[in-house]
Order: sequence, then C-alpha cells, then structure tokens
Amino acid sequence: MTTLLKKPVSLFKAFLDIVLPPVCYVCGKPCSGKYGLCEMCLEKIRRITPPACAKCGRKLHSDVSICGDCSVKNSYIEKGWCACYYEGSIKECIHLFKYNSYLGLVDIFRDIMLDSIKRNVEAKDADAIVPVPIYSTKKRERAYNHAEVIARAISKNISIPVDSRNLKKIRWTKSQSELDRQKRLENVKGSFIVVDKNAFLDKNVILVDDVYTTGATINECAKTLKNAGVNKVYFLALARGA
Ligand SMILES: [Zn+2]
Ligand SMILES: [Zn+2]
Repeated sequence: MTTLLKKPVSLFKAFLDIVLPPVCYVCGKPCSGKYGLCEMCLEKIRRITPPACAKCGRKLHSDVSICGDCSVKNSYIEKGWCACYYEGSIKECIHLFKYNSYLGLVDIFRDIMLDSIKRNVEAKDADAIVPVPIYSTKKRERAYNHAEVIARAISKNISIPVDSRNLKKIRWTKSQSELDRQKRLENVKGSFIVVDKNAFLDKNVILVDDVYTTGATINECAKTLKNAGVNKVYFLALARGA
C-alpha cells in the first residue's frame, strides 16, 4: 500500500525533473546529487576532525583535551561535538533550512552529524536526544523547531529516542548573534525549565542544535538538565565558528 501511494508522487517528481531540472540549493547550478547540492558546494563543507576540545568541539592543534576557553569556564557539558565549520555552503544551507523552510536539507545535516557522532563511543550510552528548545511564539512564527527536525532525523539512525517535551524555553530572549559573550550568558540565564523531572532522572542526554557559537545557550540547557538530576549531558551541533 505504501509503495502504491508513493508511486504517483515519484512519477510526478520525475516529470518535474524533466520540465524543471533540479538545481543546487546553494549556487543554483544544475545538479543531481542526493542532497540537492552540487559536488562543488558539497566539497566546500569542512568537517571538524579530531583532535577537538572535549567540552566545546573546537578544533585543537595540540594534545590538550580541552581548549583555553573551556579550562576557565563553568561547563555543565560532559562532552560535546561539532560536525563542521559554520561557513560557506553549510551556512547558506542552515539559513535556507531555518528561515526559508527548505526542510529537505535535513538529510545532509543528519549525515554530517551521524559521521561525527559515530566516531564518539561515549554518546552510545545516551538515553535521550533533546533538541535545544525555542520559545513557543517563535515556534508558531516558524511552525517548527529546526533543532527538533534535525534531532528526529538523527534519532531514527541511532535508535535513541527524542524527548522534545520536557526541556522547555519559558521566555523570549534576544537573538544571541546580536550580543557579546557576557550579554549572551545573561540573556539566556534562567530561560529554560525541565517540565517533568522524573523524565531525565539519572539519564544521559544528548542536546542537539544547529549552530554553536559561544555555547551560552547549550551550557544553560545543560545546567538546567543537571539541576533536574541528569547524569551526563553531551551535545552535538552541526556547525560552529572557528
Ligand atoms: Zn552548488
Ligand atoms: Zn573548548
């Protein structure tokens, strides 16, 4: 039945591909890649490979396990990974995904993040994947939480369930991109709650988000989870600045 239902859609898509050949999401050149990106735009995505800071995922060029920033910061993160650099074609894709509803791009985000998570054995002991929440009016404007879409795509592949109900954002905050580091910390302080504390008690959780900048939001989420009895908080972000 499922196959029968799918067939007219794929025939229609095949027809559309003849009339309107698919083009790359980023550069607009014709392409037939499975992600909707041409080879050139795909090659421009730079992965962050080990060694990287255990707390924030920053690329390291020496044998230390955490970076200078993390060594002086009060981090609630057990371990964190960022899959690629926030630049070029992936930055463009994230914008299209978040602000123009190009949800098909979740496939490439998922695969890039799975590459990263599969290299890290620690994540295998996680009990839940928790997308970084957005405030509900923002969700209504956008109709979806982009981090939750990514979290659900990853969850299907690693068999760890998503919990998107028990970590909530309870107030509106300014966009972090407009603020310096100190203001970012103040901006998000106390803006998350855990709804059902039993949901996470003694569990290990992976927070998922699209972009990691200073880590203020992720760390505030981690602090809220730890205060609610979470054992270990990991995070996985798609992209981060250098
Ligand atoms: Zn392209
Ligand atoms: Zn670090």
